Amino acid sequence: MQKIYDVVIIGGGPAGVGAAVETSILGIKNILLIEKGDNHSQTIRKFYKDNKRVDKDYKGQVVNLEGHIDFMDGSKESTLDYFDKLLDQEAIDTAFNSEVESVESAEGIFRVTTFKAGYLAKIVIIAIGRMGRPNKPEYKIPPSISDIVNFNLDKCTQGESILVVGGGNSAAEYAIGLANENKVTLNYRKAEFTRLNELNERILLDFNKSGKLAFRLGTDIVSLEGEGGNVKVNFSDGETATFSRVIYAIGGTTPVEFLKKCNIELNDNGYPIINDNYETNVKNLYICGDITTTHGGSIALALNQSYQIITHTFAK
Ligand SMILES: Cc1cc2nc3c(=O)[nH]c(=O)nc-3n(C[C@H](O)[C@H](O)[C@H](O)COP(=O)(O)OP(=O)(O)OC[C@H]3O[C@@H](n4cnc5c(N)ncnc54)[C@H](O)[C@@H]3O)c2cc1C
Repeated sequence: MQKIYDVVIIGGGPAGVGAAVETSILGIKNILLIEKGDNHSQTIRKFYKDNKRVDKDYKGQVVNLEGHIDFMDGSKESTLDYFDKLLDQEAIDTAFNSEVESVESAEGIFRVTTFKAGYLAKIVIIAIGRMGRPNKPEYKIPPSISDIVNFNLDKCTQGESILVVGGGNSAAEYAIGLANENKVTLNYRKAEFTRLNELNERILLDFNKSGKLAFRLGTDIVSLEGEGGNVKVNFSDGETATFSRVIYAIGGTTPVEFLKKCNIELNDNGYPIINDNYETNVKNLYICGDITTTHGGSIALALNQSYQIITHTFAK
């Protein structure tokens, strides 16, 4: 007989870690946290720059933490250490390097399938975030430059000339974070920033004024070419410029196909339909964290959602 977990959690970001830890604290230990990366919190590891400040009340969204996790302001590193400590303390069973491909339900039991294994569970929480599938530009990126055209900060080193593409807070934070050690240009297709929080906008403008960061606003990219180990960027205003790296921060999309495969109903905009307790149309199948949001979420919001799901589920 194959083991049946009480709870399987898919995705080891703040929402998934929160759900696992809160479940364990309630005394339910027969749980598994499945993560496609080689460790928990891939969004924090890959998309936050080293030493990035991590705000609890991110972008001014003030959140009172409701559960047992005492997350506070810190840095990328202190946040990862804190989540390490929580997972260790509660001895959470994890399956890393395991991308879940589907979740099927039969007679009240779920079968969660990764490319190498299948797990059975009574309750499944999907916490896969939105950053796993970053938006990509419509034009083709030549394979020869794929190593120096990125969608996160994974491969950045010091002293590079970097074009950051995007007009949202992620693009702003990439550009600001990189500007101390690199020659950074921020490209946004609109002539002005319209989606930035006050702090990011102020820092960007200050950096630009002091020459720490260049802007290329009101022009779009039409194509990229390789040029002597660099990227030649062709802009819609006819200008060209060469950079040692291009980083796109043009948002991420809800992994619609995955949710559809799990038989989760979506609304007309492609967002999952959930009740007040984050349960989907499939009984005992919950979604949690950024994947529930239409605009950016936060770590604290994800932790609160996971706490609500667990208290609702086990109070039933
Ligand atoms: C640049 C940047 C800066 C930010 N700064 C802050 C900040 O200062 N403070 C703050 O509160 N928030 C910040 N945020 C937002 C915060 O990171 C998110 O709100 C939070 O990470 C959401 O948590 P999550 O668990 O829902 O999703 P994620 O953190 O995205 O985690 C999802 C996890 O699921 C895994 N996964 C995906 N698909 C599968 C699959 N099929 N099978 C198995 N695993 C899968 C992923 O690898 C990932 O580890 C920032 C975001 C960005 C991009």
